Amino acid sequence: MDSIPCPSCDLFFVPRNKLQIYCSGSDCQRARKALWQKQKLACDPVYKKDQKLSNQKWLLNTPDYWADYRQRNPKKADRNRALQKVRNCQSQKNKAHFKASKVIGIAKMDSSKPSKDMLLGQYWLVPTVAKMDPVKIFITTAPVCSP
Ligand SMILES: [Zn+2]
Repeated sequence: MDSIPCPSCDLFFVPRNKLQIYCSGSDCQRARKALWQKQKLACDPVYKKDQKLSNQKWLLNTPDYWADYRQRNPKKADRNRALQKVRNCQSQKNKAHFKASKVIGIAKMDSSKPSKDMLLGQYWLVPTVAKMDPVKIFITTAPVCSP
């Protein structure tokens, strides 16, 4: 059998069978299993539920794990605290939007208000995804037809 590159470590190896795509290195096997588990969690609701129960049971038996983790990894803990503040702000924003939309009865609360001064002028539309040249556009007022 021909040697193939391992998707994890990029080293060539001779697979034992046609299905083997990762080499037998422990890090590569760990990567293979993590990918398998990610796909399984996305596709199998029973497996996902079982994993959640298993994790909860493990956490009950290991209550100090996260406190120890934060002490062992202060940079990661700081990063997570900063990201959590952002998530909390977004959550509060979403709650405020939801409450306001329930009271008023509309979904979009921050719709832009037409302002002639803000929109009139020349602009360049610069594509960020598609490969095409920037396009210059002009925004002017439409003439109002009077009867
Ligand atoms: Zn490998």
